[in-house]
Amino acid sequence: MPQIGLPPYDDQNIFAKILRGQIPCRKVYEDEWVLAFQDINPQAPVHVLVIPREKYCSFADFSASASEAEIAGFFRAVGKIAKTLGLEDSGYRLLANMGADAHQEVPHFHLHMFGGRRLGPMLARQG
Ligand code: AMP
Repeated sequence: MPQIGLPPYDDQNIFAKILRGQIPCRKVYEDEWVLAFQDINPQAPVHVLVIPREKYCSFADFSASASEAEIAGFFRAVGKIAKTLGLEDSGYRLLANMGADAHQEVPHFHLHMFGGRRLGPMLARQG
């Protein structure tokens, strides 16, 4: 069954706590729109998470509800972070998990940035 509407934002999710400074992170970049930090369980030599400062529980929520300034600020920051990390020449991958089929674990919208090696095919093959 398709879900009607979006779930309410959970203020106790781990990224909300990181944004409030209640738990630490290995910060890579921050500005008025985003915070970026190293993933605690990296899947590549570079594995950074970029999150908006405001409360969006998923990409669906962010894309529907964020202001144009927030969306532009977010994606401009993503590009800046990749460049600052030296990934532009070698390349990188961006990934957002949204909802159950994508196995989204943390209900605060985040973009994964992977790089630092050949990343292989886009999706793991199953079965
Ligand atoms: P997703 O499945 O897209 O929701 O990914 C959540 C990501 O958050 C995973 O890659 C986790 O390793 C990462 N993660 C969970 N807790 C932390 C934390 N405290 N600091 C940094 N990354 C985290």
